[in-house]
Amino acid sequence: MIYSKASLLKFHDYKQRVRQAVEMCGGLKHLRTSDRVLIKPNLVMWDSVYPFPKYGVITTSLLVEEMVKLLSDYGCSDITLGEATIKDQDLGSSTKAAFAGLGYHSLQKKYGLKLVDFDDEPFVETDFGEFSLNIARQAFETDFLINLPVLKTHSQTKVSLGLKNLKGCLDLKSKIRCHNREIPLEHFIARLGETISPRLTVIDGIYALERGPIFNGKAYRSDLLIASGDTYAADWVGCRALGLEPSEVPYLADFAAARDLPLDGSTIQVVGEALDHVSTNLEWDWEWNKENSAPEVFDRLGIRGIYYPKYDQTLCSGCSHMNNLMLILLLGAYREKPFSGVEYLGGKATLSQGGYEKTFLFGNCAVGLNKNNPAIQEAVKIKGCPPAAAEIVRVLNEHGLPASLDMYAAYREAHAARYKEKSEFNEAHFTIQE
Ligand code: SF4
Repeated sequence: MIYSKASLLKFHDYKQRVRQAVEMCGGLKHLRTSDRVLIKPNLVMWDSVYPFPKYGVITTSLLVEEMVKLLSDYGCSDITLGEATIKDQDLGSSTKAAFAGLGYHSLQKKYGLKLVDFDDEPFVETDFGEFSLNIARQAFETDFLINLPVLKTHSQTKVSLGLKNLKGCLDLKSKIRCHNREIPLEHFIARLGETISPRLTVIDGIYALERGPIFNGKAYRSDLLIASGDTYAADWVGCRALGLEPSEVPYLADFAAARDLPLDGSTIQVVGEALDHVSTNLEWDWEWNKENSAPEVFDRLGIRGIYYPKYDQTLCSGCSHMNNLMLILLLGAYREKPFSGVEYLGGKATLSQGGYEKTFLFGNCAVGLNKNNPAIQEAVKIKGCPPAAAEIVRVLNEHGLPASLDMYAAYREAHAARYKEKSEFNEAHFTIQE
């Protein structure tokens, strides 16, 4: 009872492997040369200000170029690459900055590749019955969607593979809607996979990311390529390659249940490497202490006097990104005496229970939710959607915490330095030769 084939190959810096992976799964068998092709990489974030190790965070330019070359050799001439990266002025993050930084303009010149920032174009309001989402027009107008996610874990959804990468086709309002109090994020992802159907998914596992989805996770050189005409099959193999059981990944379980697909892989034929021989075992979650009052690292460093409960699924990507900055600033601002009874709340679901001198409300959602909360003694609002880095620093300083962006810059330098001396991490995988 095999429905789908997925190929699994080691890369070993041998570019031909991309072509082989696609051929082995029969990935282009339904492609016509006249088709309008859309490539959707994963460019979740960009950073033009701080050192940005891209390993396991975004799709390699190498995979994008090999895919465009393959399509061009096949005879396709109408090829578009589309994405909508997180926008953040402070960090210089935008889709266009990512396209430029990854060398995609060379692909325009060499192969006539069209580049589209989904946010520049209209979105199609799409009714799912229980909710509606605005989806990039390109995703509907294409004849052949090629999905190029990264082999990575995700601190909210456990993994971020093919189905999750489709969330990048939504407008900002819809992305925010996916992080709400009533419907789990995973359900949005599973339902999205019903409406947008990639004809080919190639998971870029040249690098894999632990505690993803952004740069603060830990990258490994995993040297894998996973390809399938069936996104579910590719994701199933990707999960196992990361060391997770697909049945324990809610979005895959939801997707499978809606189609009556078994989660044991009995409908998937894996060709190439033996999955058990190449699987890793990566952590997806950031640890908080047992009381859920602070990240474990605060306990380890003896930081006290602060209540910082763990983020939940209602915190969307913009605030998650800045939440990391906030934690680093607090670590840097600690001066060997307990903070003076403060709490930090973010997202759309956490109400203060009181008992703190000051309650820092991180982002417009937390500010709105706790607006008339009588339990709060003094509300300190860090406004923004998400709050800007400079605003976070300003508010912390105003309330006696000596935070500075220099601390954050030092952290980013140190983090990037982890990869600098290791030959297996090759920055050239994120550039394209002129
Ligand atoms: S404030 Fe934060 S959690 Fe709320 S919608 Fe904006 S980015 Fe999302």
